[in-house]
Amino acid sequence: MTEPHLEINSLGCPECRPAYRQALKEFLRSRLDLLCDDCKRRFETNPLRALDCKAAGCKEATQGAPSVLDNLCSGCEEHFSATRRYLDISGTGYSVNSRMVRGLDYYTRTTFELVTGLLGSQSAVAAGGRYDGLISELGGPAIPGIGFAMGVERVALLLAERDFAGRPDLFIAALGDDARQCAFKLMGELQSKGVSVEIDYDGKSLKSQLRRSDKFNSRFTLVIGGDEIAKGTAQLKDMDAGTQRDVSLVADAIAIVLGS
Ligand SMILES: [Zn+2]
Ligand SMILES: [Zn+2]
Repeated sequence: MTEPHLEINSLGCPECRPAYRQALKEFLRSRLDLLCDDCKRRFETNPLRALDCKAAGCKEATQGAPSVLDNLCSGCEEHFSATRRYLDISGTGYSVNSRMVRGLDYYTRTTFELVTGLLGSQSAVAAGGRYDGLISELGGPAIPGIGFAMGVERVALLLAERDFAGRPDLFIAALGDDARQCAFKLMGELQSKGVSVEIDYDGKSLKSQLRRSDKFNSRFTLVIGGDEIAKGTAQLKDMDAGTQRDVSLVADAIAIVLGS
């Protein structure tokens, strides 16, 4: 499973959700004693919350409860299968969690969470969903919306937990102002092609720039000085193989060599 992992659900729409809510209430009515105080209190206003409540009694009470996904209208069903199809096409891994609900009523159809197992018990890093009716409810036009909230502390902990940055593809060492400008330009162009690039920002000596490249554990190092600018080519060193070759100081050419 990818980390964090995507979970999705559909909460239906104003057309199909009232009937589902009613069916769930009917199911839970005979099990009210099992529900925690919070879920008892919101049984009338938002019975769906019992589905994702962590209390043991609520877990027991909701066992075998009707699933929202079995109660979608045809429009919501089609929308949910299209959502899954596009996730498949884009190669995004996910699982369906029919117990994922939201505390607020304005959510329609798709809801999603990014969950991680890296911070102890399974926890959500980000959670959100679609809200087709919210803008018009606030007096605006009838346009759909989507949004999510993210836990900043959890994201910070995750970043500390794992090396998400990885190693840069390229470190460009530059000597002199012209070379530094060239390095800066190449960095921008290569980054826009998806290549991760590091350079030195302090005008340090070549030796200390190469030390920095080592520290970054970059895959390739490119050294640019006055001669290289004049020739329009420079030596690109493969740091793993220890080999080097000439490349022209053009982002396209460098990207091709890095990709091969
Ligand atoms: Zn619907
Ligand atoms: Zn509960």
